[in-house]
Amino acid sequence: MVEKLASISVPGPTPIPLTQEFWTSAKNGVLVTQICGDCGQHVFYPRGRCPFCWSGDLEWAPVSGKGRLKSYSQVWKPGNKSWIPATPYIVGLVELDEGPKMLTTVLCADLPEVGDRLTFVPFNIGGRVLPCFHAFTEEEAQAMGAMEKDGWQGVINGKPKIGDTVERVRTTKLEDIHAFTEMTGDRNPVHYDEELAKKTPFGKLIVQGGVTTGMLNACVAEDLPGPGTVFLNTNLNFLKAVGVGEKITARVEVETVRDDKPICGLKVLISDSQGDACVEGEATTYTMALKGL
Ligand SMILES: [Zn+2]
Repeated sequence: MVEKLASISVPGPTPIPLTQEFWTSAKNGVLVTQICGDCGQHVFYPRGRCPFCWSGDLEWAPVSGKGRLKSYSQVWKPGNKSWIPATPYIVGLVELDEGPKMLTTVLCADLPEVGDRLTFVPFNIGGRVLPCFHAFTEEEAQAMGAMEKDGWQGVINGKPKIGDTVERVRTTKLEDIHAFTEMTGDRNPVHYDEELAKKTPFGKLIVQGGVTTGMLNACVAEDLPGPGTVFLNTNLNFLKAVGVGEKITARVEVETVRDDKPICGLKVLISDSQGDACVEGEATTYTMALKGL
């Protein structure tokens, strides 16, 4: 039954302004209910007034996504015939740990029992991600594809959080230029001919851009997201040249994190000791699972 839900074609929900937040959050993997700003009670279904104290101060807030099966029906004859290929399926009344009750599709291998612990899962029904609950252990759910896979399993530093930041500081050296030339063959005179370099807009010998941006490699591979990380993409603007003997700071900040794959979007910045941005831009990284290899 769980496998068939993805391939059926059924009418979807009709979000209205009052309920839009619930559907959008559920699709993004977060179960929300309204919470009353006056009495603190969680409220579901969505409405304009708190049913406990009649306050109009209701805001959306995430809940744990854990609950208990209060009652259920096994559906053999659906009201809408497009559900027939997925029969028999389970519709249950779930009592959330926060209090409210939700009518929901329950994903399970065998018939559940009243009182079973259930977990929220955004699940593909008819090509549309809808809020459901499952009665599986995490391992069973992943094996059945009932849950989005945790793409960060086995990653040494674990899953980063949005806003996580790391910095590395280093002073450039003349040897950096030689080492980079050895690696790449880049023997641009602005890196070697001091007299000539003084007459350029830089006014000094500068290190190759790769010497500077290499600091970003160190940040992502050593610290954040950490060992096993490679760049999938970088988009960098070179704003100010870096000379020899200059202290530079590389900074990486996590802007986006995928759940299903170990992929991050990063904001990156390299600045000099005057605080000027030398390189800034964005990067996308992939972090391989190295634990247990
Ligand atoms: Zn209230």
